[in-house]
Amino acid sequence: MRYFTILAAVLAVFAATPIAAHDPADQPRWSIAIHGGAGTMDRDKMTEQQQAAYKAALQSALDAGIAVLEEGGTAMDAVKAAIIPMEDDPKFNAGKGAVYTWEGVNELDAALMDGASRKAGAITGVRRVKNPILLAEAVMRDGRHVFLSGEGAEEFAADAGIELVEPAWFETEHRRKALERMKAEKLTALDVDHKFGTVGAVVLDTHGNLAAGTSTGGLTGKRWGRIGDAPIIGAGTYADNRSCAVSATGAGEYFIRVGVAQEICTRLRLTGQMALDDFGVSDADSQAARVGLTGEIIQSVADAVMAEVKDLGGDGGVIIVSPEGEAIFSFNTQGMYRGRAASDGLNEVAIFDDE
Ligand code: ASP
Repeated sequence: MRYFTILAAVLAVFAATPIAAHDPADQPRWSIAIHGGAGTMDRDKMTEQQQAAYKAALQSALDAGIAVLEEGGTAMDAVKAAIIPMEDDPKFNAGKGAVYTWEGVNELDAALMDGASRKAGAITGVRRVKNPILLAEAVMRDGRHVFLSGEGAEEFAADAGIELVEPAWFETEHRRKALERMKAEKLTALDVDHKFGTVGAVVLDTHGNLAAGTSTGGLTGKRWGRIGDAPIIGAGTYADNRSCAVSATGAGEYFIRVGVAQEICTRLRLTGQMALDDFGVSDADSQAARVGLTGEIIQSVADAVMAEVKDLGGDGGVIIVSPEGEAIFSFNTQGMYRGRAASDGLNEVAIFDDE
């Protein structure tokens, strides 16, 4: 029902706005959105200094992505540029600062996807790769496989010249204590962490291409080789120039079951295509045509998919960038560490849901 309401809204927009073929004279646009996890973010429980520190970290990640885009760099490079500082920052649950497994080690997951070619690379369960997003990129560029795990992924990393570090690099006291508390008090991961700290970025570059990337330590106390949604193409990460780029954070098991990232892209692609069909624009034209999915429509589609996650019992959020440069957040939690910027001057970071 909700889907038909959205489709009706799209058709109304199309009726009001004639579809314009892409005008190369248009200013090249870029757009970027980032996240550093979603969850229970209570103003009263975060000091002013903590809020400022998170906002500063988000702003530097965003700035790193912007710098690439302003130079005419690729969406893939901007995604990496934004994610690397968050992987290196112990405030986030990715790279240094990753949560601990039940056995007391840090196991990292990451994925990167290129919306132009739909090539993707993903890795899971690595313990010595300093910046997992770079390994995901190496897997994608190598092209023989999409998803590598554990020791094999590290062997591949060594061959590909990716920086390896001792596992001690990832150790942090606050994450260690979270695991100890979880065990002592028999808590769930969400009880001890209160929020998901996965990091991600989605980008539209000035060449019109989209990319998405996500990097995480997963959930505190994860066991038995558990893999979350972040490195699963279609669940926590997806990019397709025909629809959107998505990166997710949240209770991975639910995001996998809904196939969140691809579900959002597919709904947007079909919604746009059905509207184009109604106006006699062929599929071949549609890539170049301004699909005309407004921010409002993208928001409704994302919210509808996130409502499904909630209905199944899952919390979290997504960031989305469309081929038109709309940068959208949707989350069913109290807050999400997030930021977005675009060539039209938009530049903001936020934490709480009322910001
Ligand atoms: N989605 C991640 C996972 O389930 C956790 C997170 O977002 O922090 O592994």
